[in-house]
Amino acid sequence: MKYIEPHAHMVSRTTDDYERMALAGCEAVCEPAFWAGFDRQSAGGFADYFHQLTEQEPRRAKAHGIRHFCWLCINSKEAENVGLAREVLALVPPLLKRENVLGIGEIGLNKNTRNELKVLEWQVDLAARHRQLILVHTPHLEDKWKGTKLILDVLKSDSRITPERVIIDHVEEHTIDLVLDSGMWAGMTLYPETKCTPARAIDLIEQYGRERVWMNSACDWGKSDPLAVPKTALEMKKRRHSPAEILEVTWNNPVRFLSQSPHFKLENPGVPGKSGG
Ligand SMILES: [Zn+2]
Repeated sequence: MKYIEPHAHMVSRTTDDYERMALAGCEAVCEPAFWAGFDRQSAGGFADYFHQLTEQEPRRAKAHGIRHFCWLCINSKEAENVGLAREVLALVPPLLKRENVLGIGEIGLNKNTRNELKVLEWQVDLAARHRQLILVHTPHLEDKWKGTKLILDVLKSDSRITPERVIIDHVEEHTIDLVLDSGMWAGMTLYPETKCTPARAIDLIEQYGRERVWMNSACDWGKSDPLAVPKTALEMKKRRHSPAEILEVTWNNPVRFLSQSPHFKLENPGVPGKSGG
């Protein structure tokens, strides 16, 4: 099969992981800016990270025949420090021109604090002013439903934001309908234990359909699996989803959403057309 990994933190993965992903059929990987496993001490730490995302990782991916794209922002965890957030956001606009940058992400909320909300609003404004796609991280576990509601309120209250140009990631059973009803896209994160397991993700697809959804591994330094997307595709096959239906969520849908950025270019993207629902 061929597939797109639309959300993976490759800076935390080994070269062997790139090789395994390439062998499994990965053609492109998209890497949102996020927390690095520790709080960075200065805006300089983010400048280096953005350099890594826009210069180094594309080279590492290319060595395995994989296209690498990225998203830029300050994540919600470190956005609690609003002074730092202001400095980091000043670094972003000139970098949006770099050829692998798809938009602003993954922004959102972590603990749903007032500071996080303020920085979220700044980043939505940044995306609107620069006509960028938005990728959103939603909080974990007990904070998820409330956080998703708060994030949707911020996005919906800004008339410059087009819902089809926003993807809300890490949806679960209790948040997917909120997201799809808003007209935005929904990302399902395939974690071995938390977020969405492969079986739960397939249940959601069977319940809500294939329109405006994608699946990702969000693999990072924590317990996660860079092959979660092809493994879930295999599981879909066992549950009698047709090859065309599997292709829809693992390839066509990511191509449809990401092609809204002029920077998203593939050798052979196929012709996605309208989503099959
Ligand atoms: Zn992530």
